Amino acid sequence: MRFKEIIGQKELIHKLIAMANGGRISHTQLFVGPEGSGNLALAIAFAQYVNCLTPSVDDSCGECLSCIKFDKLIHPDLHFTIPTISPIKKSNELAEDWREEFLKNPYLNEFEWLNSLDNKANKQGNITAEECRDIIHRLALTSYEAKFKTQIIWQPELLVKEGNILLKLLEEPPVGTLIIMVGSNTEKILPTILSRAQTIKVPKLKDEEISEALIVLHQCDYQKASDIARLSDGNYNFALSLLQTDHDGYFERYSTWMRCCFSGKMDELQKWVDEMVDTGREYVKNFMGYTSQMMRAAFIYKYGDQKLLRVNTTELAFISKFSAFINGDNLSEILKTLDDSVIQAERNANVKILFLNLSLYIGTQLKRVPKQA
Ligand SMILES: [Zn+2]
Repeated sequence: MRFKEIIGQKELIHKLIAMANGGRISHTQLFVGPEGSGNLALAIAFAQYVNCLTPSVDDSCGECLSCIKFDKLIHPDLHFTIPTISPIKKSNELAEDWREEFLKNPYLNEFEWLNSLDNKANKQGNITAEECRDIIHRLALTSYEAKFKTQIIWQPELLVKEGNILLKLLEEPPVGTLIIMVGSNTEKILPTILSRAQTIKVPKLKDEEISEALIVLHQCDYQKASDIARLSDGNYNFALSLLQTDHDGYFERYSTWMRCCFSGKMDELQKWVDEMVDTGREYVKNFMGYTSQMMRAAFIYKYGDQKLLRVNTTELAFISKFSAFINGDNLSEILKTLDDSVIQAERNANVKILFLNLSLYIGTQLKRVPKQA
């Protein structure tokens, strides 16, 4: 992974290169950024850069022996510890699956990774104590050939009690070692781990960065790329997913849905839900993301700075009326329920039942507000 393959993040890349070239490489780092920001891809590109045999001032060379192996994630001194599902395999036993999934989409999230492992029981990912001991053992051995033997730990949020096993190592890694943890939420990471790492904050992507990538890398036309970028809210992984599903019909579906929720007409709702079931799980998840955005937009329209709205004119016309039914109380309840529904959809819940329940719930929430329109 070279820096030039990273979407956006130019400012941060500049800082990372300056850090590497200034010889100020902290041996325990934490790259932290929201899903779809490219935190993992950046961590790997950084590790490749510091290990490149002939780096230039702005990127790894992509041609030396180290780069060739890093590009394919097959360097013998590059190690990954990633979430796995007990009791199946450990990270190093899943190395081949991991390479394949990461190289397919360097912006993937934990859920997509676990699903690729045939996670039928929808178990939660975990980093076990045994994995932690493996890391210590591995890093105690001398490196084969790299300048920095590199250990990447993806999702340090999962290190709960087991994380304490690593404290001494994180505090003082063996000479010539680079440990990079990659996570998204510092509040969920053990304070004892946080305090031992240098934190590199990875910001969420800008709309222009996402739309440019969609145009250049996916031959998307300008309007579609802008629409997707706006909907994806800085999450490139979500943008890719939107690109694969036809999001053109979202607004129609959304506005019809809200009318059904509000009117409570069951026959119309049934018809809407049946059409939704036919769209498939990916579409459903993305549609829920879109719904959350429209709900937030209605709230901003009513209470916030309307200049911050990221909607088109058709959406704006709808929201200007719909916002009468949204307030701080029901917005947070609805958003929480939508988030839960996305998780349930990912876990193969019955889409029909999910939407029927959700519709009745949203209907009730919308009526909590006196009509003002
Ligand atoms: Zn190189």
